[in-house]
Amino acid sequence: MMQPRISFQTARSMLLDHVSPIHTESVDLMNARGRTVRESVVSAGHVPPFDNAAMDGYALRAADAPTVGAVLPVAFATAGGQSVPPLPEGACARITTGHPLPPGADAVVRKERTQRRPEQHIRFDVVPSPGQNVRPAGEDIAAGDVVMEAGRVVSPAAASLLASVGHTQLTVAVRPRVLLLITGSELVDATALPSAGQIRDSNGPALALRVDAAGGRAHARRAPDDTAALHDALASAPPADLMLISGGMSVGDDDLVLHVLDQMGMELLFHGVKQRPGKPVAFGVLDDRPVLGLPGNPVAAAVCFEVYARPALAAMLGRSTVLPALDTAVLDAGYRAKAGYHYFTRGRAWVDDAAQLRVRPTGPQGSGIASSMRDANCLIHLDEDGTDPAPGQHVSIQWLR
Ligand code: AMP
Ligand code: MG
Repeated sequence: MMQPRISFQTARSMLLDHVSPIHTESVDLMNARGRTVRESVVSAGHVPPFDNAAMDGYALRAADAPTVGAVLPVAFATAGGQSVPPLPEGACARITTGHPLPPGADAVVRKERTQRRPEQHIRFDVVPSPGQNVRPAGEDIAAGDVVMEAGRVVSPAAASLLASVGHTQLTVAVRPRVLLLITGSELVDATALPSAGQIRDSNGPALALRVDAAGGRAHARRAPDDTAALHDALASAPPADLMLISGGMSVGDDDLVLHVLDQMGMELLFHGVKQRPGKPVAFGVLDDRPVLGLPGNPVAAAVCFEVYARPALAAMLGRSTVLPALDTAVLDAGYRAKAGYHYFTRGRAWVDDAAQLRVRPTGPQGSGIASSMRDANCLIHLDEDGTDPAPGQHVSIQWLR
């Protein structure tokens, strides 16, 4: 019989002890958004590669315009995408933003601070200082700089740097294959019209989307609460790096999943955690693969995904940050919580006019109230020692993406 004996922190540590980084593949930068880089990327060269103009104007030696009103002849104009000749002594060159600074020049005066004079001469209305309006080579990235560290996720901003250094093939973690087995005799596909006593499967789509967002690839199957059917579904499933099973984890007559997994040889590591919601959550290892059993209640399944499955996937992907970052917020409205359980309360957090992060629970918190999850932007954590948190109290929150 299930006795929730272990704490949430112990349970999660046990789970993370049984997952390891998955193998890698090479992907093109254009297909790399959201992928986890597994080899640090070091720049071979400088970005920008050459000293260049930060403004449209005139390149010169600052020493050639020591007083306001200095007049210099224009030796040439720079051209885009081409190398630039050296700047003759005592002359200036017309230059466009981003073009290479002519060798010898050390400053650029913006066009608005100059006046044209007859016969290709320019009067300088300001006294430039060396380096003014010049973007030096390597200002953004120097040769040898780490552009992207292993374990980071490719974002559009990262793509900018990777493209600048010409790193267009990336070694990334393979997306873990996640088998989603959705169990329950009462369930029909969300596209079907339920008959009396049936309900639509909402965990299948919800968990599939969560897996996708967490970097995995989900394959969903459904099975009724029947020993033979559950066995068949598990035995015939394609190989998976992680198995997520929804429903049938509790101690009712229909809760057969762990029994079937036991028959198949799964080593059960925990069943029952001192947490709410999600007390019946279970974890085991079958054929060296992690198996996470989620309670069928849609809210409990979602919460357990966020606090167990998402970190497990992050660890498989080799991410440098596996556990969700926690923030501290001031509780705006109290709620009931019994000692001895780690509570995950769906919350809505915001920054108030005094720049204080505040949070309040999203209305009714029953395990069947899926709208409490829809309206939440965070989970409020309250560990086993806390009881009935009161308004004004500081609490930890985990952001939901
Ligand atoms: P169980 O964990 O199987 O005891 O299910 C707990 C509650 O969640 C029951 O009311 C189930 O009908 C419901 N439930 C289980 N699986 C799903 C699912 N995939 N979609 C929607 N509700 C579910
Ligand atoms: Mg059930």
